[in-house]
Amino acid sequence: MPELEIKNVSKTYKKGAVKALDDFLVTLTSGVYGLLGPNGAGKSTLMNIITDNLNAERGEIIYDGENIKRLGKEYRSVLGYMPQQQGLYEDFTLNRFLWYMAALKGLKKKEAKQKITSLLETVNLSSSAHKKLGSFSGGMKQRALIAQALLNDPEILILDEPTAGLDPKERIRIRNFISEIAEDKIVLISTHVVSDIEFIAKEIILLKNGQLVSHDTCGNLIKEIENIVFEVEIEREDLKRFQDNYRLSNLYNEEDKIIVRIVTDNPPENYAAQPVNPTLEDLYLYVFENEK
Ligand code: ADP
Ligand code: MG
Repeated sequence: MPELEIKNVSKTYKKGAVKALDDFLVTLTSGVYGLLGPNGAGKSTLMNIITDNLNAERGEIIYDGENIKRLGKEYRSVLGYMPQQQGLYEDFTLNRFLWYMAALKGLKKKEAKQKITSLLETVNLSSSAHKKLGSFSGGMKQRALIAQALLNDPEILILDEPTAGLDPKERIRIRNFISEIAEDKIVLISTHVVSDIEFIAKEIILLKNGQLVSHDTCGNLIKEIENIVFEVEIEREDLKRFQDNYRLSNLYNEEDKIIVRIVTDNPPENYAAQPVNPTLEDLYLYVFENEK
């Protein structure tokens, strides 16, 4: 089983003023990992270091027991990366783009031809192969970028916000597709959208201000907030006070009352706060939003 160790990696920007990654430590084996954190958490920095596009200031990345700096080309040949900043070649047809990327990755002509044909099928874009990327929808562009990341049959697949800017239908498609291709690979997906990874990730890695908060299965993570998620029936005029004082994960109207869902260590007194089963969404709020 492949193993990627991220060992005590740190990285700062602006002469140390911004700690983008702070002593980050995690080991990945095959399966889908969800890297979850808000904007600025350090997700892209981590991915850039894992893919050797950025140097860490401290720490190292070890693939199957060997430092990736020592592996060099050998490491790049097992790596597939879909960066967040997409220098998409708008004037290229999809076909030309994939041939171009295949050449950059050093694929032989015959190999490239077979691979491109089968990948176009996989990402369901065969009929658009001769259209320009500039004319593609958001979902088609994302699928084209995933396809290029798969050209070299990577053992490690790093996808930086693959569902950014997609509508719900496209998100579901991409999600199912990632889940399908993940077999026997290390797949790391970054997102700030809980539903992108809730059901497909074997483990979720919570990243906050460059630091690892925790990493575990979704089920185990949710256990951490058992007994602190409540539904409370309140009067309409109390809503503002609840919004100001609690992490509100949901609210809905019921006749003349409002039911709010809150995540709190200190449930309000004088209200019948009903404990409810926590979700990953509640956990996200608990970890990334401070109680006011
Ligand atoms: P994420 O991908 O989770 O949004 P990033 O890794 O892009 O987070 O950024 C982490 C932190 O580092 C943020 O505070 C961001 O502003 C800062 N940062 C990222 N890249 C640079 C850079 N090239 N120069 C200065 N600061 C940066
Ligand atoms: Mg990012």
